[in-house]
Amino acid sequence: MDFYDCLSREFPISPKLIALARTVEKRLEPRFRLADEIAGVNQVKVLSAMRRQRLGESHFAPATGYGYNDSGREVLEAIYADVFGTEDALVRPQMISGTHALTVALFGNLRPGDELLSPAGKPYDTLDAVIGIRPSKGSLAEYGVTYRQAEFLPDGTPDLDGIARAVTSRTKMALIQRSKGYAWRRSLGVDEIGRIISRIKAADPGVICAVDNCYGEFVGETEPAEAGADLVIGSLIKNPGGGLAQSGGYIAGKREYVENAAVRLTSPGLGKEVGPTMGAVPRMLQGLFLAPQVVGGCVKGAVFLSALMSELGFAVLPSPGEPRADIVQAVRLNTPENVLAFCRGIQSASPVDSFAAPEPSSMPGYDCPVVMAAGAFVQGSSIELSADAPMREPYTVYFQGGLTWRHAQAGILIAANEIV
Ligand SMILES: *Cc1c(COP(=O)(O)O)cnc(C)c1O
Repeated sequence: MDFYDCLSREFPISPKLIALARTVEKRLEPRFRLADEIAGVNQVKVLSAMRRQRLGESHFAPATGYGYNDSGREVLEAIYADVFGTEDALVRPQMISGTHALTVALFGNLRPGDELLSPAGKPYDTLDAVIGIRPSKGSLAEYGVTYRQAEFLPDGTPDLDGIARAVTSRTKMALIQRSKGYAWRRSLGVDEIGRIISRIKAADPGVICAVDNCYGEFVGETEPAEAGADLVIGSLIKNPGGGLAQSGGYIAGKREYVENAAVRLTSPGLGKEVGPTMGAVPRMLQGLFLAPQVVGGCVKGAVFLSALMSELGFAVLPSPGEPRADIVQAVRLNTPENVLAFCRGIQSASPVDSFAAPEPSSMPGYDCPVVMAAGAFVQGSSIELSADAPMREPYTVYFQGGLTWRHAQAGILIAANEIV
């Protein structure tokens, strides 16, 4: 008995779909080997950082209160800086999401009169309120920080000339989003991010180039700082937490810009010197240690979904053969019924709350109802098997995660079976 036999015994999946899945998996073998190779490179990178920074058992003692001299926190931040190839890093359980980490980095580095540039189209939905694209209490716009964005070219590549023209004397910071978010656009590879940064720096070397790295960590062999990014920002309940971190965000980059973020997160004068980790360090580091392998499994799941759904006649982004820049797979399902059916399948394939039925609802930070399917050990963790979709035309579902490749695959087959 193999995986497919065992799965079909437990779940009533159409034999035709199972047969198609077997063919698709066979065809993807070379692509899966590549994912394993990349995971191997990143495993060595993480192990080396932990050895170089001399991680020891004493670092696992929980710190409380102000967290002065919290040695676990200090080694955690040194390891992140090492892995991401940066001078320094701020890695805190108190940063509660990717949006929060991005907010801290933006507010810490921008001042009234400055302009923020998004060189690759509109940023992720939750940043609308942060930037003030949608008028919101406490936004950067309320503090007199203006915003400008350069659109992609019609062929979906970044408009390098348009980006250079968008840099003005007031441009202080550029925020480059690696992953597609809830947009039907290609995610940016680290090489492409490097080309954008070069054009911005050619126009004005003083512009701080920050990368929203959410969902991109460990998908390739390099990270954005190696392509010139001054700041790299992400969430620990996505890729780098490896499914074990229970909360947290990171901001890695040039020391000065990380410090600017730190005085915003805590207080001017306190900066990185305070912030108790309260026992979170072991899981944050164990998760980072597992992250290359977990992300490799997520990439396999994303590629498998892409191949399976395109065989079934749905538009997918990226296509199965394209190089990947993140773990997110977009599938255009065309109708709200399909979106709900797919999400129902993902939910029922989850280890936690498998009995729940996901319903669209309004969520803080999003401007239309969103349906989110996830039965995760960590609430909202999207390195775990998950699918979400804003309930709007053209009814695209965004799938990501899976702590193991076989779980991702099981979820995909159960969800696809709900549609066919
Ligand atoms: C997930 C994500 C964020 C942040 O979302 P949170 O839910 O706040 O962690 C930001 N940008 C992109 C591209 C994302 O995918």
